[in-house]
This record gives sequence, C-alpha cells and structure tokens, in this order.
Amino acid sequence: MIDIWQEFLRTFHTQPEVVAQAPGRVNLIGEHIDYSDGFVLPFAIHDVTTVAISRREDSTITLASMQRPKDGFSTNYEMLVPLTGEHWARYPLGVLWALREKLGTRNFQGLNILIDGKVPLGAGLSSSAALECSVAVALNHLFQLGQSLPDLARITQRAENIYVGVPCGIMDQSISLMAEAGCAIMLDCRDLSTEKIPFDIAPEHLELLIIDTQAHHSLVDGGYAERRASCEKAVGILGISSLRDLSVANLYEEGHRLDDLTFRRAKHAVTEMKRVMAAVVALKARNFTELGLLLNQSHASLRDDYTVSCPELDLAVDTALAMGALGARMVGGGFGGSAIALIHRADAPKIREAIATAFTEAHFKSPRFFNSLPSDGAKVIEPAGLK
Ligand code: ADP
Ligand code: MG
Repeated sequence: MIDIWQEFLRTFHTQPEVVAQAPGRVNLIGEHIDYSDGFVLPFAIHDVTTVAISRREDSTITLASMQRPKDGFSTNYEMLVPLTGEHWARYPLGVLWALREKLGTRNFQGLNILIDGKVPLGAGLSSSAALECSVAVALNHLFQLGQSLPDLARITQRAENIYVGVPCGIMDQSISLMAEAGCAIMLDCRDLSTEKIPFDIAPEHLELLIIDTQAHHSLVDGGYAERRASCEKAVGILGISSLRDLSVANLYEEGHRLDDLTFRRAKHAVTEMKRVMAAVVALKARNFTELGLLLNQSHASLRDDYTVSCPELDLAVDTALAMGALGARMVGGGFGGSAIALIHRADAPKIREAIATAFTEAHFKSPRFFNSLPSDGAKVIEPAGLK
C-alpha cells in the first residue's frame, strides 16, 4: 500500500484518488465442467493485485505497472478499441472499454492508472482476473457507477473475452470479486448463482499448497477445443441440452450409444459434477479427509478419462500424496500449470522439498510453491473503510 502510493506520486506527480485490490484464485474442485453447465468451487488466494487511480484534466489514459517498469502505455478514449498484440495494458483498458460500452461515455475522463500485482503471473492463479477486477472496483467507486459485484463480473469477463480475446468463463472474475475469507464459493455455471461454502481450514492446521509445475505443453489450445467438442458430441448423440442433464446412472444406461473416447470424456464431466456436490457436503461437515479423497478422484478422472494431465502434474500430485497430503489434484486447463495439495501445515517444508527433489531427478523445470488460505474478495482500500 505504502509502496504503491509512493510509486504513484513518483510516476504521476499527484496523489491517487482511489486504491483498490482484488485477489487471484484457485478452483478447489469442478474442473473442465464450466462449459458443460456444471458447478465450480473456487476460493480467493491471499495474494492480490492493487491499483491506484487519479483523474486527469485531459482525456489521456496513462497506465504503468510495477511489474512492467519499462512498459508503460498511453492512449485516450477515442482510441479505446480492442487491441491486438500482447501488451499487458489490454487488461485494464478492456475494463474501461467494457464499462463504457455498458454505461456510455458520460462519466469518464482521462486517468492515471498504476498497477502493483502480487498474484504470480501466468501460474494459473488468474492474475488477469485480479488485474481486471481491481480496476473495475476502483472505477466503480471513483465514478460512483453503482454496479453490483455480479455486474462487474460480467463486465470484466467481457473485457477479457472481447477486448483481450481470451475465451475464459466467468469463474475467475466472480470469485475475485465475491470471495470471502474462510469460504469457497459454489458457482452454478448455468445461471451464475452462487452459494458461500465454509472452507475454514486454518483452525484445523491445514493449508492448500499450490505447486506451479512451470510446464506448458503445446497441446493446450487444441487439447481444450477437442475436449469441448467431445462433450458437445455426447450431448448431441444423447439428445440433451448439456452434460449437466445427465446423471452417472443415465450415462451407464445410455453409454453404449457413445464411442469409447466420447464416453470417457462424458464420464469425467458427470462424475466431476457429482464430486463437487460431495465436496460441498464434506466441507459443510468439516470432513477434510473426505475432501482429500474427492480431490484424488478428481485428479484420477482428469488424468485417465479426460487425459489432460501431464508427467509434471502427476509427479507433483503423487509426491504430495506419498508425503502425507490428504488429497491433491491438477487444477486449470491441464497439460501443465499448477496442482494443489491439501496438507497439514507442519508438513509443508518436507512436501515442498520432496516435490522439488523429484522434479530435479526427473529433469523437469524447478517448480514454484505458493500457499494460501481462502481469503477476501476485491475491495476499495483507500479512501479507507469502503467496500
Ligand atoms: P494468469 O491469469 O493465469 O496469471 P494470464 O495469461 O491469463 O495468466 O494473465 C497473465 C497476463 O496478465 C500477463 O501476461 C500480463 O499481460 C497481465 N498481468 C497480470 N498481472 C499484471 C501486472 N501486475 N502487471 C502487468 N500485467 C499484468
Ligand atoms: Mg488468466
């Protein structure tokens, strides 16, 4: 906070009018089922992206990031059209664009925007949503736009889908905006309704270890499209509107109509939906042993039926389990990225060390480790006392 304030003064020679922050996220369970109208169960991590903003007299928008010190960007409202290229400023500019698209130009004017992101970039922890949501919450406050958190979730998702050009679902933005400490949020991807689920692991001396394998296998893009196509194929053959409408029992009754590969893809989706429901029951009962087993089953299903895991993810999961984790699984799209392990806090050093050693022995890149407890969602931190 002090850092960003001073950096803002140094960069823009004026004080920020608003400072806001938004967290990254991890999805506890419910993988590769958002596009089948399923449920997901994400929580916010402790790391946040902070943004400081002041208004300018002219219509220039000047953006700087403490993580990209040599890579500032300047534009104005007339130029605010979806940008091509890779520049990081597309994320905050996309939020301005989506807000303006919804609300018209009446409220907006030139801005100085400074970002300080503590969510690790590109580790599957959604630094992109954290960045978008921090900006959205800050602008909502600064211009008194009166947008609700679900409104801001749709606006920031649109920014990422249309302006940045990444076809993400609405999970990342929803959890970054609506999270609460000690809770996960069950998000129904069919109607976007949410339910807060207690996930208070600190008193149990548990924590979530996040293992970024640093692997990025080239299958990512084609593999994702192929999995979605398989789900659509199953839906078409079975004459249902989405795999949400299929129970595990129905799948086994009707499964002879599907080829083997399509059956296994559908099996992952329907069993994963069941596991999310079982995880909610386990969390409400504070049964973390059961939760661990569900994480393991989720990983096995993603590895064996959905085949989106990879050797690095499997090694991280298997090593964590061998060292006493209650459960572990890959998270995100797969073919690389991160895994999570539910562990006893006291075991963290030995589990990290064992995974690091196993990776060295396998000649994999060194993994990065993060840990987190379920944390709060986005908020305005300056002016103080505002949510
Ligand atoms: P993830 O969301 O999993 O971290 P993405 O590729 O979706 O990975 O988003 C990462 C991108 O978001 C970065 O490459 C950068 O363009 C942008 N970004 C996120 N945080 C910052 C930041 N603090 N400063 C500048 N750019 C950021
Ligand atoms: Mg992202």
